[in-house]
Amino acid sequence: MKTDKSKQLFQKAKHVIPGGVNSPVRAFRNVDGEPFFVNRAKGCRIEDVDGNELIDYVGTWGPAILGHAPECVTEAVTKAAAAGVSFGIPNPYEVEMAELIVDWVPSVEKVRMVNSGTEATMSAIRLARGFTGRDKVVKFVGCYHGHVDSLLVAAGSGALTHGKPDSAGVPAGFAAETITLPYNNLEMLREVFEKWGDEIAAVIVESYPANAGLIFPVEGFLRGLRELTSEYGSVFIFDEVMTGFRVAKGGVQELEGLIPDLTAMGKVIGGGLPVGAFGGKAEIMDYLAPDGPVYQAGTLSGNPLAMAAGLAQLREMERVDGYARLEQLGARLEQGVRALLAEKGLDYRFNRVGSMFCLFFTGEEIVDLDSVMTADKAAFRSFFTSMLEQGVYMAPSPYETGFISVAHGELEIDRTLEAMAASLANV
Ligand code: PMP
Repeated sequence: MKTDKSKQLFQKAKHVIPGGVNSPVRAFRNVDGEPFFVNRAKGCRIEDVDGNELIDYVGTWGPAILGHAPECVTEAVTKAAAAGVSFGIPNPYEVEMAELIVDWVPSVEKVRMVNSGTEATMSAIRLARGFTGRDKVVKFVGCYHGHVDSLLVAAGSGALTHGKPDSAGVPAGFAAETITLPYNNLEMLREVFEKWGDEIAAVIVESYPANAGLIFPVEGFLRGLRELTSEYGSVFIFDEVMTGFRVAKGGVQELEGLIPDLTAMGKVIGGGLPVGAFGGKAEIMDYLAPDGPVYQAGTLSGNPLAMAAGLAQLREMERVDGYARLEQLGARLEQGVRALLAEKGLDYRFNRVGSMFCLFFTGEEIVDLDSVMTADKAAFRSFFTSMLEQGVYMAPSPYETGFISVAHGELEIDRTLEAMAASLANV
């Protein structure tokens, strides 16, 4: 793969941007590589500055569920922009977006828009603390909820790949209010509640943890979380930033028949623009300013371009029955991958829900971060590099989830499987 122009840009970038990137995982450190720079992206394909064309399974880390730059979204943004790019005054799109979220997401009665997933979880945590008058928060090892101070403890995603689960700059006092537990271990959560139950403001969990590979809850785990939080009067926060509007219209809570107290949202909901949202029970949401005592605000929150982009994307997903299509494509990929693994005698795990998937380079059953960490990193690196050489871009880390979009077709899935056949032969 030709990379001269990307290399030059990266050299320049490193002089003026820390690490040359605006988000750490983009630096390709985990695959001992350097990033490529994108010229344009359309559908399921990316064209880099050196003219390489890649089939993309990162989808701007989740938002691009219809593929890159779908016409419905670019048109909606253009139309909205012509009427003004930001008002800081309520606009009709915000009401439409809130109505759609309340309609689609089972647990949400009221919702507030923010500008990123990080803001969504940060605000949900503050709200839970304000609502309960308690300080402690429980999170699970390997779950990533954005770079919120008190949640950057035993986190996943970039925090994991860089081997520093606890960031410098997070006051020890903040981290002390965060209790971290292994995922899928209800017994330990029960013990924690028995000890500190009346101090725990919230339990936050990734609906399906997707920042340390893709982990599924064992039978009864999510129900147990719901029951324990209810019993002790703690707020149950479901982080659906990744899974919301991705695995189903109503996210994992729809699939699992679960009603959390608060839900954090982002990614798909913004159609590729900077958007997040948090919502839930009206009784809790009404604790927010201006009605309630919990302050939360944003100059650009509910921005008309972002609302228009998100609305266009979600309506189009509904119109084309995108979720059914993604299940078809996901099933085709899964079947192909399983056949390849069997053919090559590789004892690797493959997890998938709809259009989200992860190939683990380990035969261990995937239940928590410890099992994820048994993956053969060298094998992943070789696989990633070989895939890229063959024109397929997977996330540059063994701890990230892949995303299929509606713009992928059978042709691309089959080409991807061919590339996998060659790449797995080398590991
Ligand atoms: N929660 C989850 C589950 C996420 O996957 C992410 C981002 N990958 C976030 C929160 C943070 O979102 P953002 O990067 O938009 O701040």
